[in-house]
Amino acid sequence: MSEQIPVSAPALVGNEKEYVIDCIESTWISSKGKYVDEFERGFAEFCGTSHAVTCANGTTALHLVLEAFGIGSGDSVIVPDLTFVSTANAVRYCDAEPVFADVDPETWNIDPEHVAELADQDTAAILPVHLYGHPAPMDEITAIANEHDAVVIEDAAEAHGAQYKGETVGSLGDAAIFSFYGNKIITTGEGGMVVTDDPDVSARVRHLKDLAMDQSQRYYFEEIGYNYRMTNMQAAIGCAQLEDIDWHCERRRNIASLYNKHLPDLPEITAPVERSWADHAYWIYSIILDDSVDRRRIRDALDEAGIETRPFFPPMTSLPPYEAYQPETPNEIADSLSKGGINLPTWAKLDEGDVKRVCEELETAIRQGR
Ligand SMILES: *Cc1c(COP(=O)(O)O)cnc(C)c1O
Repeated sequence: MSEQIPVSAPALVGNEKEYVIDCIESTWISSKGKYVDEFERGFAEFCGTSHAVTCANGTTALHLVLEAFGIGSGDSVIVPDLTFVSTANAVRYCDAEPVFADVDPETWNIDPEHVAELADQDTAAILPVHLYGHPAPMDEITAIANEHDAVVIEDAAEAHGAQYKGETVGSLGDAAIFSFYGNKIITTGEGGMVVTDDPDVSARVRHLKDLAMDQSQRYYFEEIGYNYRMTNMQAAIGCAQLEDIDWHCERRRNIASLYNKHLPDLPEITAPVERSWADHAYWIYSIILDDSVDRRRIRDALDEAGIETRPFFPPMTSLPPYEAYQPETPNEIADSLSKGGINLPTWAKLDEGDVKRVCEELETAIRQGR
């Protein structure tokens, strides 16, 4: 019996342990410390932005950045229907209304034509997601946002190091957020970051994540803030991961090219695309099965063969909290991708043998279902 291949696993191959031990030995284990400062400085440099602010996770990063732009009741925020739930939830945390756009059938990212139709005088922000690591069409989104005086916030939780027309994601919108959850491209266990060139937004995020305490008057608060801070121990892991980030990104692109090489050439399978203007981060290499295939059965067969997979995210408008947000015309592309999409194992330490095994089992499972 060969070993189980998980869909994802962190690769802690550098100075992670040394830096965490340093936190413990120095007693700097809370949310102040050199690793927090260094992680913020280094990550801003990586993204090419002037500011970066750590926070507890990607979801809190979304909440903080929306609030920092003053988005609230009466505002609407256009988000893709196909995303992880945090993108939509953060809009609701601010008491604003998410508006769900359909996605592109090939890149799976927010469809700018639909965004243009949905944008109106209430649109305060557009929140494209670089889904599974492929950059969203930022020029088109930015043009629509400019027409409506809306800000653009990138949800780059899945796309560390992805490039759009040669620019690193995170530097393309008015601000961006990243996640460092255990399965993301680099991790701090739990963690998040807001990056921006706007000093006011950065300062506001920093203020809100620290309970909005007055800087000159301890325990004086003008407003209700949050404790969304990252600890020095998490940032210590982040610093070590950041030292190796080029390797982490390169590994994922390498694994994707192995999948492209070994993926069975079957009409039932659609492989991910990478637009000519894009450098895909391949957070998770994913495929779409056509509707002749029973996805559940394929996933079960792979599971029995020791290969873990995940289904695509469901469209947000199919979930109970967002039932009331269902558009008059359903977001058909999001629906259909969501039904056929499978995430295949993608993480730094997979080798060509693993990828071949996944592809062979996939081929067997599909052929058996015919
Ligand atoms: C992971 C993820 C988030 C949330 O990040 P957490 O750190 O898990 O809170 C937000 N948006 C997208 C698209 C994600 O994949």
